Amino acid sequence: ARQLAWFRNDLRTLDNTALSTAAAKGPVIAVFLHCIPQWREHGHGANKIDFWRRGVETLGDALNDLNIPLLQRSITRFAEAPDALLALAHEHDIATLHFNHEYPLNEWRRDQAVADTFRQAGLDVQTHTDAVAFAPGELLTGKDGYYRVFTPFAKAWHRKIDHRRLALHDAPAPQARPAIEDDPLPDLPEGGGQPIAPGLWPAGQDAAADRLARFLRYRARHYREARDYPSVPGTSELSPYLSLGMVSHRQCLQAVMHRNGGHLADGDAGLTAWVNQLIWREFYQHIAFGFPEVCRHQPFQSHTAGLPWRDDDDGFKAWCEGLTGYPLVDAAMRQLVTTGWMHNRLRMITAMFLSKHLMIDWRRGETFFLRHLIDGEFTSNNGGWQWSASTGTDAAPYFRIFNPITQARRFDASGMFIAEFVPELAGLPEKARHDPSREQREACGYPPPIVDHKAARKRVLDAFKSLQNLP
Ligand code: FAD
Repeated sequence: ARQLAWFRNDLRTLDNTALSTAAAKGPVIAVFLHCIPQWREHGHGANKIDFWRRGVETLGDALNDLNIPLLQRSITRFAEAPDALLALAHEHDIATLHFNHEYPLNEWRRDQAVADTFRQAGLDVQTHTDAVAFAPGELLTGKDGYYRVFTPFAKAWHRKIDHRRLALHDAPAPQARPAIEDDPLPDLPEGGGQPIAPGLWPAGQDAAADRLARFLRYRARHYREARDYPSVPGTSELSPYLSLGMVSHRQCLQAVMHRNGGHLADGDAGLTAWVNQLIWREFYQHIAFGFPEVCRHQPFQSHTAGLPWRDDDDGFKAWCEGLTGYPLVDAAMRQLVTTGWMHNRLRMITAMFLSKHLMIDWRRGETFFLRHLIDGEFTSNNGGWQWSASTGTDAAPYFRIFNPITQARRFDASGMFIAEFVPELAGLPEKARHDPSREQREACGYPPPIVDHKAARKRVLDAFKSLQNLP
């Protein structure tokens, strides 16, 4: 009987649970639903939407090698998914629909509606845990609640992980070619502007596999030390690929074990530090599922809901444009806008700057990031923003406020990163780039600092201290 494999954030044929399970049951037809208007409403911008499109294109090629036809439809709302898929199922005489779970609230509801519609029509639906090692609910605290803090979550993850969970699924063998043609790319609505050059981020599972191999060969060994320095290409730059599933977490973890004597928690310090970051990603998926209020624009720590965020459009604009007068903050924001990606250390620095120094609502920053990031992923983005704003999980206590100048001296000591993205400061001596004098700023045409660090720090500390129920 024919199987329908619905691809979403899992644009690969290798190690794909839904696809492999479908192929084991019968001939497979693949489908992808482009949903650009709703993706845009969720905040995604041109870079991610273009990456999605290119990812589907490369997926089509990989499926073609397996003689699996790829059907494509363009819908405007998730609510249209059930009917669109059911129509295809009837048209192609499908017995079972397969897909891998996604955990944010809207996606989860969309998937429930699809499953209900299929079951009411007498068709079978099989859903799969694929994007995470443990489905939300599988790792709980002693009191049967979801973990609210990362470290105990990661400990539980390591305690319970076993080889079975991380076993790679075989890619399906080529099937007999059915008499169904691939769909051409449908006419798609506008994706929210001009995406950055596609050459920066080639799409697809082959490109992802190359990056993973290069990371492991050249960067992983130094990862623990190098990962905090934005001018050093020290991290994997796999986030866009993980977020659209062009590579799976299992493929990453298996590759680590292969190089690390079968271990994930012990052995090479660079590799184990990297595993920890993959677990952060999983943690935030559990958070979005276990605490769905974060999917409704609510702070994770409810007592922070009363923070008096400042209405400051000029400040927000300066932050977006990389004109705050704090060189590392500005370099970071310009990296985001020109490359579609930002280094993790800088995401923390810029997010804290917006939410703490400017005291502008973190949700405005969250939205701006999502609009520009090619790896934009609700769970990690929301988690990272709430962490930085001290409204979220974990231990960014409200009084931790990065000093953007000290951070620059520490993590961009030579000012190389600043010089790359704020070229007007490139002519200054290295040490002056972190905090140019007034004369130097005037000569370079670079603005004075938009806020004074000490005064801004006091303002936000006072705001936090005035909250009721501050832990
Ligand atoms: P590596 O250091 O090579 O890490 C490997 C993988 O682990 C990453 O690709 C990513 O999938 C995962 N990972 C690493 N760090 C984190 C983290 N802190 N939280 C969750 N997952 C992590 N990551 C996104 O994928 N999408 C986002 O939209 C996103 N928004 C963020 C917003 C803020 C304010 C902050 C502080 C962090 C955000 N992150 C986001 C997490 C992190 O910054 C990126 O995953 C990382 O910079 C990607 O670079 P890399 O692939 O080279 O990471």
